[in-house]
Amino acid sequence: MRTEREFKYQFETGIYRPPSEGGSYSLLVRFTRNCPWNQCTFCGMYKEEKFSFRSAEEIKSDIDAINAFCLDLIALSVELGFRGEINRAVIMELIQREPLLNNHSGLIMVLNWLYAGGKTAFLQDGNSPGMQTETLVEVLKYLRETFPSLERVTSYARSKTLARKSQEEWKDIQAAGLDRLHVGLESGDDALLKKIKKGVTGREHIDGGKKAMEAGFQLSEYWMPGLGGIEGWEAHARNTAKVLNAINPHYIRSRPFVPSPGTPIFEEFSSGANRTLSGEEQLKELKLMIETLEVHSKVCFDHAGNYWLNRKGHLLFTQDYEGYRFPEEKARVLALIDEGIEAQKINPRNINYNFML
Ligand code: SF4
Repeated sequence: MRTEREFKYQFETGIYRPPSEGGSYSLLVRFTRNCPWNQCTFCGMYKEEKFSFRSAEEIKSDIDAINAFCLDLIALSVELGFRGEINRAVIMELIQREPLLNNHSGLIMVLNWLYAGGKTAFLQDGNSPGMQTETLVEVLKYLRETFPSLERVTSYARSKTLARKSQEEWKDIQAAGLDRLHVGLESGDDALLKKIKKGVTGREHIDGGKKAMEAGFQLSEYWMPGLGGIEGWEAHARNTAKVLNAINPHYIRSRPFVPSPGTPIFEEFSSGANRTLSGEEQLKELKLMIETLEVHSKVCFDHAGNYWLNRKGHLLFTQDYEGYRFPEEKARVLALIDEGIEAQKINPRNINYNFML
């Protein structure tokens, strides 16, 4: 009987990727496992999981397995008379010949990637640029050589990691094929960053972000509306905008706070020590943040948590991955926020229940 490792198409797939990478059907390639920090009080993503690096050999073996799967599909398509087209008949035949594919967690992900043209890849998990630079560069080059159709390769990265590595290292990593970094900024307010145990200060967010920009990465910064609750909303909004002004990243993405059961912050909010913002309060916080924002960035509401509705009951903001261009569309976004606040006054329960459920 074959062991799992001898399975020709064996490769690991993690769970998480940013919404924009899901939307572009990125190939998920696991460079590290889980999160090396794992202390943020609002985050339950990798809570029960231990961080580990993966060796260059392991990652290359995964890339080879994905490549073998793609090449075998094409060869089978030709054999069956479909001239390379990957359709249901081809996929079913390959599964018939290799039944272990039935239980493969990455099968649909790779098929979606192929159907989308094989253009983008995302390096899992939480902070893969923290790998030893030499190994990261080696494996990135291998990924790019194996899949020349790739036009964009992205990864999550911590600001602390961005600040720690030298500019030369980042330039090498960028030249090896990593294009875009998704950074969990969450807040620019030092008191709140400390409280949520982000392990980074506003200053370090700025240093890391600027370094990434100077090295030539596309930089995507995620902030978390509502994270300070009623206690800290004002400082959160103001200082987040100030830190983002200093970084001036390509993308600013809103991922609103929802206390998740099982996380330490959930206890704080359920004990009554703080409380979550109402829909109207959330929009007032957002208004202050946007008013203070002076950037040349795309401001995006592409996470399902951006659920505010307008008077007609439609989503207030587009959830497009390219969002609103600032400063050109700043006035438009502020007008939308005012409309959302008015809608909340008419009906305070005016939120998207599809998301809440
Ligand atoms: S760094 Fe990111 S993945 Fe890690 S605990 Fe914090 S929010 Fe979660």
